[in-house]
Amino acid sequence: MIARVTLEIALRREFDYLVPAEWERQVEVGSRVQVPFGPRKVLGVVTALAEESDYPNLKPVLKVIGTQSLVTPKVLQLARWMADYYCCAPEIALKSVLPEAVRREQAGWRERLHVRALPVTGEFPKLSRRQQEVWNLIEERRELPLQELVELAETTASTVRRLEDKGLIALSSERSERDPYVHEHIVPTQPLPLNAAQAQALEAITTAMHRSRRGGSNREDGNAKASSLVPRPSSTFLLHGVTGSGKTEVYLQAIAHALEQGKGAIVLVPEISLTPQTVERFKARFCSGNLQTLVAVLHSHLSAGERHDEWHKIRQGRARIVVGARSAVFAPVEPLGLIIVDEEHEHSYKQEEAPRYHARDLAVLRGQRENAVVVLGSATPSLETFHNCVRKKYALLELPERADDKKMPLVRVVDMRQAARQEKGIPIFSPQLKEAITQRLERQEQTILFLNRRGYSTSLQCPLCGYVAECPNCSVTLTYHRKAAKLLCHICGCEQPVPARCPNEKCRNPGIRYAGLGTERVEHTLQQLFPRARVVRMDSDTLKRKEDYRRILGDFRAGKIDILVGTQMIAKGLHFPNVTLVGIIYADMALHQPDFRAGERTFQLLTQVAGRAGRGEVEGEVFVQAFTPFHPAIQYARRHDYTGFYEQEIEFRKALAYPPFSRIALITLKGRNEDKVRFTADHLHRELEQATADLPGTQIKGPAPAPLLRAETLYRYQLTLHTRQMTELSGRLAALLGPFAAPADVTLTVDIDPVNLL
Ligand code: ADP
Ligand code: ZN
Repeated sequence: MIARVTLEIALRREFDYLVPAEWERQVEVGSRVQVPFGPRKVLGVVTALAEESDYPNLKPVLKVIGTQSLVTPKVLQLARWMADYYCCAPEIALKSVLPEAVRREQAGWRERLHVRALPVTGEFPKLSRRQQEVWNLIEERRELPLQELVELAETTASTVRRLEDKGLIALSSERSERDPYVHEHIVPTQPLPLNAAQAQALEAITTAMHRSRRGGSNREDGNAKASSLVPRPSSTFLLHGVTGSGKTEVYLQAIAHALEQGKGAIVLVPEISLTPQTVERFKARFCSGNLQTLVAVLHSHLSAGERHDEWHKIRQGRARIVVGARSAVFAPVEPLGLIIVDEEHEHSYKQEEAPRYHARDLAVLRGQRENAVVVLGSATPSLETFHNCVRKKYALLELPERADDKKMPLVRVVDMRQAARQEKGIPIFSPQLKEAITQRLERQEQTILFLNRRGYSTSLQCPLCGYVAECPNCSVTLTYHRKAAKLLCHICGCEQPVPARCPNEKCRNPGIRYAGLGTERVEHTLQQLFPRARVVRMDSDTLKRKEDYRRILGDFRAGKIDILVGTQMIAKGLHFPNVTLVGIIYADMALHQPDFRAGERTFQLLTQVAGRAGRGEVEGEVFVQAFTPFHPAIQYARRHDYTGFYEQEIEFRKALAYPPFSRIALITLKGRNEDKVRFTADHLHRELEQATADLPGTQIKGPAPAPLLRAETLYRYQLTLHTRQMTELSGRLAALLGPFAAPADVTLTVDIDPVNLL
């Protein structure tokens, strides 16, 4: 038997190897193997099996890793599609469908020593007092992990070994699973009675599940032609529900339905919302009762060992539900009944390195291929997704009201131009917001203040000579961090000391100024304005360790914090009943980004942050401070009017032929020498024109300097292609760029459907 293998080293092709007879039963499509490649031994995945090969003198497979193939044929197909569509090498696509901890062999199951009491035969041996005490404990428990015994009996392993010598106990090595949530105390929950809108949504989803079951053909054969003759019902839904409308309850009951049908479910959650709270809601529902099953969790905060164990629980079919970030879309759940993509509009679903896939789009594709129902959920759906509903490609389910009868918070937009006139200078807090904070402190209610920028001030300038502190490697200003007493680049991370005077030799002015604000300055100013308030800041500067996040949120929940200041980390998904005030310090910040999605992003962010207010008994209030208070993104967010926002925004997209009216491929060229980068971009532009000349409706824009011209010492130029035929264009790009001869010091990346144009 011949195995066709994709190697982990990037070569963009498959190689044939002989499968030794003793492994023929073990090697299947998807098996991980070690094979010789020149003088090296490399890892790879079997992508096909054959009887014969065109090549003579094949070398044999050296080793088969694991007893079960790791990549299921379905996931393998998904990886192939991903490589084609996102223009990346198949081996890179394949690599990303398995967590590192599973791909490498190092993190295996953890073995732990267990102590077991043996039946006493014959005369009981003589024991010292210490040994007797330890034995008493073992006899009572009969069996326990060695580590636990050592801690309980306050003894050492060698004392325990003595008992082994005397024939009283046996020590054995047992596989023990790591459980990343072992310390959480989980209280089982029961399904809630649904309100009318929720019940209607659930009904639509479960009906589709039944239909897809009867439709039944699992298109495993990869015979796209034949299967496309059978009309497919749309299995994709958009669950559009305001924050707090009870989307999660609908997800939970839909999952229960999948389990009843003997199928599993994948729940994708943005990395940042994947908090213990979120995971617990899923674990709590399925930790008891007749639908009891393990819920596996996949995300980057787990240790390699934990990730290994969680993944194998899924592969072995013991965990039927997976909750995870982006890459959980590849989880080997089989059979798969349901995929949920919560907060589907989130940009973190897009991977920013090769393969640059969008997990939501892959989820929709995977759902179609495996006959699973896909539910995209959001309070602020992406324009692309909502447009698909308008075009009837997806079915729209709406939850227009909060499930718990709580009112939507009252949103007040504060005109900061006016505040600036009153205060003679731009204040951080408008008088209105200051007053509102004072009230909350008096009433012992909590406040969240949001500003999506960390640090103290965003630039350091000399008012005399005009000097601005800039990063030597990137085209951005350095941010001043007060506590760390440093100037920091937020792109490359380089640090510089804070100068006491203007560094310009001819100037040396001691009166240098800090301009612009970040969360650290908000925190500092709050402490000055409200010295008695307990203020805590939450951003990537204050969260140094894995536990910090949990600890701060725990303190906030317990009422030990009055005001929480933070970046986007606090914008999402948090649910604190005592928060009655949310302040958005600078709402139009995101509007000024050179990106056609700036308006959409601002609308989403304001809506999400506002949703943190008033989740308890008292009605919530939101202050949005803005310099462009009449911008549609701000005004529609104030009125909680998604449809209104969609309708005006979609007109703008249509007029400029931006997505969803076209798809974009973004090519970025980078290099140290700006001229060389520009020259290569011009050359590529000519080749692209030729390669796409007969592709109607395809437009090439650029080359142009990227909005962030220089990052980490590299100059960046961009070419942007707009098209209506992305599958075709991807194929042509791959064919063109594979052999494209760029100078050695110019690198090139392709991003299909980019979400970040910087
Ligand atoms: P979303 O996911 O849409 O933001 P959640 O699922 O978090 O909303 O629901 C918000 C709150 O409403 C939660 O406390 C939840 O327990 C509650 N809730 C959801 N559905 C119901 C229901 N049918 N009856 C009563 N409370 C509900
Ligand atoms: Zn830099």
